[in-house]
Amino acid sequence: MKRILVLGSNFAGVTAAISTKRKLGNDVEVIVISPTSHFLYVPSLIWVPFGLRKVKDITFPVEPMLNKKGVKFIQDKGIKVMPDQKKVITEKNGELSYDYLIVATGASLNFDILPNLNPKDNMVQCIVTPDLAEKSAIAFEEIVKNPGPVVVAATQGASCMGAAYEYLFNLDKYLRKRGVRKQVDITWVTPEPFLGAEVMKNSPDLVDEKGFVVTNDGYQHIKYKNVYAAGLAVEVITPFKKCAAPFGVPKTGFPSDVMGKIVAENIRNDIKGTGKFKTMPFGKIPGICIMDAGKKEVWILINHLFKPRQFELMIPNVFYNFGKLILEKYMLWKNKKGLVQLP
Ligand SMILES: Cc1cc2nc3c(=O)[nH]c(=O)nc-3n(C[C@H](O)[C@H](O)[C@H](O)COP(=O)(O)OP(=O)(O)OC[C@H]3O[C@@H](n4cnc5c(N)ncnc54)[C@H](O)[C@@H]3O)c2cc1C
Repeated sequence: MKRILVLGSNFAGVTAAISTKRKLGNDVEVIVISPTSHFLYVPSLIWVPFGLRKVKDITFPVEPMLNKKGVKFIQDKGIKVMPDQKKVITEKNGELSYDYLIVATGASLNFDILPNLNPKDNMVQCIVTPDLAEKSAIAFEEIVKNPGPVVVAATQGASCMGAAYEYLFNLDKYLRKRGVRKQVDITWVTPEPFLGAEVMKNSPDLVDEKGFVVTNDGYQHIKYKNVYAAGLAVEVITPFKKCAAPFGVPKTGFPSDVMGKIVAENIRNDIKGTGKFKTMPFGKIPGICIMDAGKKEVWILINHLFKPRQFELMIPNVFYNFGKLILEKYMLWKNKKGLVQLP
């Protein structure tokens, strides 16, 4: 029986793990390793600072769901990958061996990119992790009680600006609702500092200088053919010209799911010896996104993430943000049930 280790238990990790198990059944043992015991519906973090969601509303325990699908879960953190020995060193469980590895570790935040940026130490807030989003909710209440200037910013190297704009528009909306908007000067500074997760920076044979896993268009490592990656962890070369303030490639949730499914298909092809290899360059993956713009939402539908495109549509939903709410409920239901075969 082949052993497949998956690092990461969110969008890409859950999709890749369950899809692989569905395709290969008893031929494989699939083990997910992740430090977080709960699945997090990341897009709804933008509502935590305004008290519209608590973190418990947008998370659920991942282990029971994975176990129901025949996937094992180990709550632990990958420290380093040793691709020549086909092993991952973990914090609590020592060395774990694999036949195939799927890296779905997302990204970690680089607060060192600017002096005094770390939100743990000072008045800086950040909405990208659950604990920091909850801290931002306390700060929002403080600014309502004691209004003053607010700077909303994403730093050089930022990629998906959608979340930053969603925060900005919602800040404006909820300050108005609380009757203090006129006393708060909002300044918007653009462009989020993302690097690959620490475990991958410790595994230099697998990653580029920023810690992203270097793969081909089937999301298989270019040298180690039994190592795959999906989601934010994948290196994507920017298709646009580099500017003085660098800007990254937006990697949203939908492509994470698509990559997870392609990885599962290719591991199945390899184990079954079909001779097939599924590819889809990142730029050719369709894009589906709903942005909360405060009083309304904008639906963004494109047939390819990168230009040239044959189809691109931005539809403002002036009737309010029910699309984003329906998507949140659907995605939480789909992942809670482990129904990763659904779109
Ligand atoms: C505030 C915000 C709003 C967003 N809004 C949208 C939106 O509206 N629409 C959209 O499509 N996308 C949105 N995105 C982007 C979307 O959330 C990401 O594309 C998606 O989370 C990527 O999934 P992933 O599985 O690759 O990584 P993640 O969701 O980051 O998951 C990474 C997993 O790896 C685990 N991990 C980390 N380190 C290790 C380690 N050392 N060993 C083992 N496991 C590890 C983590 O615990 C986690 O389980 C938003 C992002 C943010 C931050």
